[in-house]
Amino acid sequence: MTQAFLPYGRQSIDEDDIDAVVRSLKSDFLTTGPTVEQFEELLSSKTGAANSIVCNSGTAALHIAAIAAGLGDGDCVIVPTITFLASANAMRFVGAEVFFADCDPLTGLMRPEDFSAAIKRVEALGKKPSAVVPVHYSGQTCDMPAIHAIARKEGMTIIEDACHALGSRHGPNLEAQTGDCHWSDMACFSFHPVKTIAMGEGGAVTTNDPKIAERLRLARNHGMSRDQEKFTSKEAGLDINGNWGLWYYEMEQPGYNYRACDLQCALGISQLGKLEKFATKRRALRDRYYSFAKELPAGIHFIRQAADCDPCPHLMTALFEGDFLGFGRNSVMNSLREMGIGTQVHYTPVHLQPYYRRMSPDLALEGALEFYRKCLTLPLFSDMELTDVDRVVAALQTVAAKRTEL
Ligand SMILES: *Cc1c(COP(=O)(O)O)cnc(C)c1O
Repeated sequence: MTQAFLPYGRQSIDEDDIDAVVRSLKSDFLTTGPTVEQFEELLSSKTGAANSIVCNSGTAALHIAAIAAGLGDGDCVIVPTITFLASANAMRFVGAEVFFADCDPLTGLMRPEDFSAAIKRVEALGKKPSAVVPVHYSGQTCDMPAIHAIARKEGMTIIEDACHALGSRHGPNLEAQTGDCHWSDMACFSFHPVKTIAMGEGGAVTTNDPKIAERLRLARNHGMSRDQEKFTSKEAGLDINGNWGLWYYEMEQPGYNYRACDLQCALGISQLGKLEKFATKRRALRDRYYSFAKELPAGIHFIRQAADCDPCPHLMTALFEGDFLGFGRNSVMNSLREMGIGTQVHYTPVHLQPYYRRMSPDLALEGALEFYRKCLTLPLFSDMELTDVDRVVAALQTVAAKRTEL
């Protein structure tokens, strides 16, 4: 009997999720009804943030975060190179210049020293860095207390890309959770189906600063404000009795349509209700993988477990040493695929993308390059069985045996 194909990640949708969306479809609202605010309140309570602003993707979340931070032409933003394209691209959307930071070859995380080295590169050009986007690769968190201390000394805004890390705890005493912005100004999330919860497409920004929250809401919805206190155009807005029109709204700055709709938020609420369940399962799968650490074939190991964090794992990344490249990652991926196991590479360092290469052709980030050459993401998702991990490990052994035959 052939076993089901194991992708590296996928959503977990039950009947109650389907019912929630169907109920939403039968309600009066398909967009910007009550479930939008309900989702935001639930996300705030799950993360411990004062404000949550839901939007229609993680990319949109990063974009409105850049807008709310006031970033634009002439600003320099530091982004680790081991990340998804959007962490850097969203900074480019507002015209900021991106400076890539190196990463730890054992975890894929930007270390405080990588951050400091990137700041030095900015300063060597006679510029000042404005913001940093720490990325919590695989659900493990960057050393936020140290990054926060460095950034604040430089007067930089801190926008966490927490797209991998919903449900992670961190800090020397695990006192913080991702999204509570304990050591940041904003945290961005994605609810793409491979992430910890699924909304179809979806994202959110959390922040404790009410002014930032207001800017995020404006950027999400065309820049439209219905706050009478702030209206300025009497010519357009006052009726003949001197009252602001019931119909009236004003725009100070153009914004976008990045709204998440009620259908998405109905699914999001249902999914977020299962966050603890998903996190428990993801941690159990990770533990199962690490329980095999000593039995892995020579030259294959898992990424190092980062200090000061209790991640809700998003990715299970393995590192292949030595002649892995010689053997060929494609042949490893193909062999695993033939055994029913999906893998992926997270990520090609973003500074090597042609668009960014043209901006800094000579930039060398050795730690990230080493990580990239070795990394392969193995299956990990909530609906996986613990015994599926055994299957993956056995398949790695088969692949390694083939390698020694060559
Ligand atoms: C998924 C992801 C994004 C983008 O999220 P979308 O919802 O796909 O737009 C950004 N950054 C990281 C690190 C991600 O993993």
